[in-house]
Amino acid sequence: MPHSTATIAPARPGSKASASNPKTATQKALEKLGLKRDIDLALHLPLRYEDETRITKLRDAREGDTVQIEARVTDCEVSFRPRRQLIVTVDDGSDTCTLRFFSFYPSQQKTLAVGQRILARGEVKGGFVGRTMLHPAFRSAGGDLPTALTPIYPTVAGLSQHVLRKEVLAGLARAELSDTFAPGDLDALNKHTGHQPLWTLRQALSFLHHPTPDVSLETLQDHSHPAWQRLKAEELLAQQISQLQSRRERAMLRAPVLAMVAPEVFNPPNEPEQPVLLPLYSELIATLPFTLTAAQHRVCAEIASDLARQVPMHRLLQGDVGSGKTVVAALAATICIDAGWQCALMAPTEILAEQHFRKLIGWLEPLGITTAWLTGNQKAKERREALAMVENGEAQLVVGTHAVIQEKVHFKNLALAVIDEQHRFGVAQRLALRNKLTHDGMEPHMLMMTATPIPRTLAMSYYADLDVSTIDELPPGRTPIITKLVNEARRDEVVERIRAQIAQGRQVYWVCPLIEDSEMLDLSNATQTHSDLSLALQHERRPNGELAQVGLLHSRMPADEKKTVMAAFKEGHMAVLVSTTVIEVGVDVPNASLMVIEHAERFGLSQLHQLRGRVGRGAAASACVLLYSSGDAPRLSESARARLRAMSEINDGFEIARRDLDIRGPGEFLGARQSGEAMLRFADLNHDAALLEWARREAPMLLDQHPALAAKHVARWLGGKSEFLKA
Ligand code: ADP
Ligand code: MG
Repeated sequence: MPHSTATIAPARPGSKASASNPKTATQKALEKLGLKRDIDLALHLPLRYEDETRITKLRDAREGDTVQIEARVTDCEVSFRPRRQLIVTVDDGSDTCTLRFFSFYPSQQKTLAVGQRILARGEVKGGFVGRTMLHPAFRSAGGDLPTALTPIYPTVAGLSQHVLRKEVLAGLARAELSDTFAPGDLDALNKHTGHQPLWTLRQALSFLHHPTPDVSLETLQDHSHPAWQRLKAEELLAQQISQLQSRRERAMLRAPVLAMVAPEVFNPPNEPEQPVLLPLYSELIATLPFTLTAAQHRVCAEIASDLARQVPMHRLLQGDVGSGKTVVAALAATICIDAGWQCALMAPTEILAEQHFRKLIGWLEPLGITTAWLTGNQKAKERREALAMVENGEAQLVVGTHAVIQEKVHFKNLALAVIDEQHRFGVAQRLALRNKLTHDGMEPHMLMMTATPIPRTLAMSYYADLDVSTIDELPPGRTPIITKLVNEARRDEVVERIRAQIAQGRQVYWVCPLIEDSEMLDLSNATQTHSDLSLALQHERRPNGELAQVGLLHSRMPADEKKTVMAAFKEGHMAVLVSTTVIEVGVDVPNASLMVIEHAERFGLSQLHQLRGRVGRGAAASACVLLYSSGDAPRLSESARARLRAMSEINDGFEIARRDLDIRGPGEFLGARQSGEAMLRFADLNHDAALLEWARREAPMLLDQHPALAAKHVARWLGGKSEFLKA
């Protein structure tokens, strides 16, 4: 799309070096920070500010205050006990203070020589020997104090605040910052935020780079200051425009029309004697061992109506764990297959893909549908055969892992691609799947599924270019899962509970966490738990008289072994399954009624909810035990406690997702959807919902009535990154 080029000034940071010279260290560091254009520099905003405009008397400084003092050095010595350090005593007339430095240069010692007057800035600590500051910033006193707060920028190694500050201010001065809001926008924005007077972009940026000392630091810190409001509004508007653009671009694309022929065509009411030929869709519904919930019916209708259009569907199907998304995917597949096209289903793990495969052939094979299985771990012959079936069209449905999008996979006529647990896949992978249809420039319909419900603000922002269908009810007959918090010290009682489950013929999951992201430790932890439990449960018998088996599943196991273990658990031969988080997504064993999560304090909310969702899938009352331990600390951290408490109180996945967004920000939901660069930097979806609403309303107006401004705005804010928003 053509941009107004005026905004994209050539990259000129560190402009001293000409193009023929190698890059300076400063330029390299700036590039590492993603600061290429003047506007990038101007938008590189301070993390925080230091107030060097004021001098505080030591007497007035309370413990914990960060202050600047002006004082005379009365003593300066190097001490070697307990370790080498420079100890400087200063006196400002009101009190004395000891400054300590563990690393120092001779030149610094000179500045700190006895009799010198210095400015020192740091946190004041108390202590029985009097006030101290550890590694304060300092310089010789004299000269004027700055009149603005000193900005502290995010930086990288090798780029000092001083140099970065100069580059940023130079970038700010050079940047083209003319307003891109349409005349009415600012009024609307003002009405929205109640902020007067209006701040222009240039005013806002100049202010944030050097705020006057009288500003409330709090409004800068929590981004509620009008200057921040302006920036956040700009950013959100850019995001909304860009998503709107990609939605409109998609509307120009073509996809196969997958219209379901209405059942009444096949079933004329006055000729009941005729053999009735139902569409596969109705046939599947008729043969399912359960009736669909109203919510499942509704989302199926939404999907069916998308598929019948010649514009590619781009729909997110969200539903809590256990809400029954798989059967919806199967029904969508029947529509596609009935119309004579191929459908692909991709899942993020082998275990999950395999489970889908089994379930889908169980439902679809009786209807005469042929399904192929593709995974990275297949034997060569098996794989060759599968590939051939995909290519010649014999396989109407293709189920698999990432193997589905590999180059060697050629579909005859792919029309519908279903991605389960979509947040586990990256942009590139989704694009690859989209590109598997090469018919006449058409694109396949995409159905993305997720069990992590997306909070409203996220749906309106990052996912604004998606249509969303929600399954908001669980199949009937499920009893809510009881969640209990149990201290690690009471592990024995948990083992007792497991015995009781085994005696009733029920099955149990025991999940061990990742430890410090180390796969090795992770493994040894699970292995240890597995052998402990095997020992503790060695004499337990199930109702059929069999000794209870305890299995182990972890990510390092060969695929075959994983498959065997999973199958044994699924078929009920195995009573207890100890596993790492490989079972996190999608595994479905309705007879499992107890989930124990070890070190639950290390998991995030959404992950705990996913894990917990592995039980409560049948009619039996189910429980989830969150085993926690505070390790060496006397007690759990505040946030860990908040998470665990939330888990024990809330069963609703939407509410959990909202809390998780509060606690962790949007990263968890977005997963690999976008590069971090395309994320919102300034706006915070929890606090800026009002601005987001405003941006959502303004975006179409700006795009339609002032397309040049809109283009300029997007280029300014997203530069080359807007491509990422489109997948
Ligand atoms: P998820 O949405 O987490 O992927 P699944 O598709 O795995 O959920 O469904 C969970 C379980 O519920 C499966 O055993 C599935 O067969 C079953 N199920 C799905 N829909 C219904 C329904 N309407 N009534 C009863 N059981 C259902
Ligand atoms: Mg699922």
